[in-house]
Amino acid sequence: MKIPLNTCPVCGFDQLAESPRNRTGGASMEICSCCGFQFGVSDDDQGVSYDDYRERWIAGGMAWSSKGKKAPKGWNPQTQLGALARLATLKRVKGRPPRFSMQLL
Ligand SMILES: [Zn+2]
Repeated sequence: MKIPLNTCPVCGFDQLAESPRNRTGGASMEICSCCGFQFGVSDDDQGVSYDDYRERWIAGGMAWSSKGKKAPKGWNPQTQLGALARLATLKRVKGRPPRFSMQLL
């Protein structure tokens, strides 16, 4: 299973306007309204990995990042991260029953 195209690989927010990376690897330059990661800038220009950024975001209290866009109704950063962790785990242990990994948290 692959992480859905318009899902933020940092925080698991699944309503990005476009895929963070296109098929040729080009960055979307989009800023995730949830965690504030900017694809092509935070990673390429600033050299921050998804994991490092995620850790910082979690340490900072998993706040909604965008000032202009409101969080979706019922938004829950923990549920969102849990879904991302499940996807990541499913990807790693293909063909075996899903295991929950707490590494992301
Ligand atoms: Zn994000």
